[in-house]
Amino acid sequence: MKALVLNGPKDLEVRDFPQPALADDGVKIAVHYCGLCGTDMHKYNGRAGSRKVIYPVPLGHEISGIVEAVGKNVTDFKVGDRVTADPNWSCGKCFYCRKGMINMCENGRGVVKGMAEYVCPPQENVYHLPDELSLRDASMVEPLSCVLHGLKQLDVKLGDSVLILGLGAIGTMMLEVLAKTKSGPIIVVETQEAKRETALKLGADLFVNPLNEDVNETIRKAGIKNVDRLIECVGAKVTMENIIHYAGKCATIVMFGVGDDANPPLYYSYEAFQKELTIKNSFVNPHTSQMAIDMLNYGVVKVDDFLAGVISLEEMAEEIRNPNLSRKGKVIARIR
Ligand SMILES: [Zn+2]
Ligand SMILES: [Zn+2]
Repeated sequence: MKALVLNGPKDLEVRDFPQPALADDGVKIAVHYCGLCGTDMHKYNGRAGSRKVIYPVPLGHEISGIVEAVGKNVTDFKVGDRVTADPNWSCGKCFYCRKGMINMCENGRGVVKGMAEYVCPPQENVYHLPDELSLRDASMVEPLSCVLHGLKQLDVKLGDSVLILGLGAIGTMMLEVLAKTKSGPIIVVETQEAKRETALKLGADLFVNPLNEDVNETIRKAGIKNVDRLIECVGAKVTMENIIHYAGKCATIVMFGVGDDANPPLYYSYEAFQKELTIKNSFVNPHTSQMAIDMLNYGVVKVDDFLAGVISLEEMAEEIRNPNLSRKGKVIARIR
């Protein structure tokens, strides 16, 4: 089959790749769309994604498609069904799974390598799509499911002020969900001035550009006394450092962006101590895929609000080598 294959760090090509085997409990999906994730960029640059990379491997894990065949033990799916798949498989049997921490599964593995013509995940990872939800939009179920886990970690309480750092595709999804449930002000901190209008249109109360203004001063001038909940959606050293400075007293920070162990942020421990901060992380998407499907279907999150382009696999290879569209928002590969 045709796939966008990572042979090794910075070694990417569209080429023929063996089709994954269909297990008795597996579902063979003809992939229609696959989103480009920040972790795909990390993998291209020789870093790990959510897990270690084993070469050669097709990139991508944010898919939608149509069932092409099913294993002999599969009862809930049939040829022609419109589906998406959760790429994170967990065993259900290990210590962590039995404690409900399925994202910490000791036997966990990725079961979708989606920038390819076919994937064959186990049936428990496959989800039916509502008729009204387009396949293009359904490829965003996986990133949204991760966003929803991040928002669970953020645990916004009534009246809390919330700060979103970074308005890429992930930050925009965070904003769309938070804006629908808010009872306090939402602040977006973002260096691309062009995103100011989108932020305000989608429900942010304040847009702050740290290149032009002092973030804390602007927040105070807007009458927001304390920033209670903050979510970091960039994963850069500087943003992961600065978010501690933006946090208010007794605030909770979720580091959603994936950091780089080779270039870790400075941890301002004394400032964190004085403010009594709670700093959390968010790892993949336990039990949030169905919720993500529903939110896309209900229009809580609208893909057009953060989509930068739908391109071919060949164009995707070029995009990963020389990022352009992905700087503006989400890029999705159309496979067929
Ligand atoms: Zn992803
Ligand atoms: Zn397990």
